[in-house]
This record gives sequence, structure tokens and C-alpha cells, in this order.
Amino acid sequence: MDKVNILGVNVDKVTTAEAADKIMSFFNEDRLHTVFTPNSEIIMHAYKNAEFADLLNSADLLTADGIGVVYASRILKNRISERAAGYDIARLVLDKLKETDYKLFLFGGKPGVAEEAAEKLLKDYSGLKITGMRNGYFNADEEDKIVEEINNSGADIVFVCLGAPKQEEWINKHRDKLKVKAAMGIGGSLDVFAGRVERAPDIFCKLGLEWFYRLCKEPWRIGRMMELPKFAATVVIKGKKYKQEQD
Ligand code: UDP
Repeated sequence: MDKVNILGVNVDKVTTAEAADKIMSFFNEDRLHTVFTPNSEIIMHAYKNAEFADLLNSADLLTADGIGVVYASRILKNRISERAAGYDIARLVLDKLKETDYKLFLFGGKPGVAEEAAEKLLKDYSGLKITGMRNGYFNADEEDKIVEEINNSGADIVFVCLGAPKQEEWINKHRDKLKVKAAMGIGGSLDVFAGRVERAPDIFCKLGLEWFYRLCKEPWRIGRMMELPKFAATVVIKGKKYKQEQD
């Protein structure tokens, strides 16, 4: 698959629809496939942490969740055509899953969120099979039990919604024990499915201003968002080095 190297992270140049198709193809192969959707903050995290960069690069699908990553690809003259956000990919996957017998497990969020999300999703996607759910707050000694719960549910795919980088690290830590065919790390998506958090209106997403909408709604994100200008500057200054290594 065609990729662009953004500060050491090899992001797949796929559209949202292509990403969803790719995930559906994972069911044909009997092994775990990982799907991560880094935004610029997470790519900056990987830039400073080689082990985390390796973890991201080991993914079967790595998409650009955030307009910052799309702009970075333009700066590097290896364009990603659109943002492929985890939430949007998940919606398309749900639409396809409902036509199949594949089973879904929802993992993450505060107690009650996965249950609320399941209730809404079952209404929206008639035919969908949700085989289990679990909140995202646990002690280290409960992790094996959670893996067992997911495996025993017979799920084919799990949405892991613990926020980044926790979800990517959790999936990676348990990759040899998980029996699902696909594990997607998709951050706060369960909160949105549950109706607890509103997604930015389409117009903000289309204009690449979802970050601004989120900042107005959740001003405490300002610290995390200050990574964005640093990310842009780093791509301009250091990006070429990675590009040359790739070429
Ligand atoms: N969360 C969780 N366990 C934790 C920490 C966070 O399940 O130990 C959940 C939290 O309830 C929220 C999601 O992870 O639903 C993180 O959402 P956020 O939008 O902050 O993540 P992002 O999409 O920005 O990575």
C-alpha cells in the first residue's frame, strides 16, 4: 500500500472508504490485524519515542486522523487525499458489518458508555452483532481477564477506545493473545456513538477546523493542541530528512 513517511511514521495514503474496505478484507486472514489512526499529536509523540514509532509502523493499517497530518503530507509533496478519521472509518465498517455475521466487541470509555453506545448502534445499524462490551478503566492485573472476555465473546473485531497512546500500547501488549481478526484504536469514538460527546458539525470537518470546534467545547485541550504548531514546524524543518531516507 502506498505510504507517506511523516517524521518516521509511515501513514497509509488511503481514503476513509478504502480504509473500511481494507478492514473488511482482514476477516479473510486468520490473524490479528491492527488499525491505528494517528493525528499530529500522536505523530509528534512517536517522533520523540522511537519504540512508539515502531509500534505504529507495525500496524496493518495506519490512517491520517486529523487535518494536520494531511497538511504534513502536502508539505512533503506526497499527498494524502483526505483525512481518514478513526470515527468515520468505524461508521463505514459498522455499515458493512451489519450485512455480515461478524461480531463486534466495544472496549473503552467510562462505565456505562459502551452499553449506551451499543444501544444506539444496534438501533442505527440493524443486523449488527455486538457480542460484548467493557469500560476502559482497569488495573494492570485485570488485563488478562479483559483479553479473555474479548476472546470468549467470539468477537471478530474490537473497537479499543482508551485514548492514544494507551489504546495502541494496550493492543500491542496483548497482540499475541487476542483472537479477534481486527483491533481498531479509535479514541473517544464510543463517547460519540453513545451521544455523550458531540462531533463537530460537518462544515468544521470540511474546512479542516474540527480542532477549533473541539477547542471551544473542551478548552482544557489547549495544552495538547499546542503540539500542532510544533508538529507543523518540525515537518517543515525535519520532514525532508525522513523523505530522503524513504526515497
Ligand atoms: N479512556 C478510557 N480509559 C482510560 C483513559 C481514557 O477508556 O484509562 C477513554 C475516555 O473515557 C474517552 C477516551 O478514552 O472515552 C479518550 O477520548 P479522547 O477523545 O481524549 O481520545 P483521543 O480520541 O483524543 O485519543
